[in-house]
Amino acid sequence: MNLLEMRIKGFKSFAKNTTLNLNSNIVSIVGPNGSGKSNIVDAIRWLLGEQSSKQIRISEKADVIFSGSEKFPPAKKAEVFLKIKDDNGKIRTIGKILTADGKIQYKIDNRNARLKDIFEVIGGAGVGKSFYSIISQDQVRELVSASSDQLRVIIEDAAGIKTYLNKKEIALKMLNQTKENLERLNDVLYEVE
Ligand code: ATP
Repeated sequence: MNLLEMRIKGFKSFAKNTTLNLNSNIVSIVGPNGSGKSNIVDAIRWLLGEQSSKQIRISEKADVIFSGSEKFPPAKKAEVFLKIKDDNGKIRTIGKILTADGKIQYKIDNRNARLKDIFEVIGGAGVGKSFYSIISQDQVRELVSASSDQLRVIIEDAAGIKTYLNKKEIALKMLNQTKENLERLNDVLYEVE
């Protein structure tokens, strides 16, 4: 998946409709302290369903809505739209809108959608619970100080094999249960014979 363009309006410090062209080899975003650089990353995380308030640096859900300034009144809603090229080369626009009454609406190509649908469009890679496609300063600290066991869990999670390990565990349990049932059945058969 490639990020092509981002549109933010009423999200955190972005009072006005702001379009960022990501369709180039951006390696860094520079600007004075407090100018909103991290808010851009927060916007991507927020759109992709980040559940941790800490990760997007808010206390309450409504904190992402622009709270007003000397020049601009508070926004009525926060909107973030991302134009992406999916893994099949198709251009899609995914979005999220939060209104002041607390309602959240996800969008795909201007149609209402669920977060689950958004995950399908972006292919799930590196997003979801742990968001390893976006590494925060906290995560760098976590990685550097992790024990080898913790590191293994992190790497398994990032590689997306955790789901398969869980499935394997369930399958092995079922296999054992079936083995026990077979043994019991053999006992019954032995007695009948
Ligand atoms: P630094 O270089 O210091 O890390 P930064 O460029 O990454 O800064 P951000 O952390 O992205 O800056 O932005 C912080 C600014 O966003 C602060 O000025 C803060 O007041 C503003 N801000 C955050 N949430 C809101 C909101 N809901 N409404 C208005 N402004 C907000």
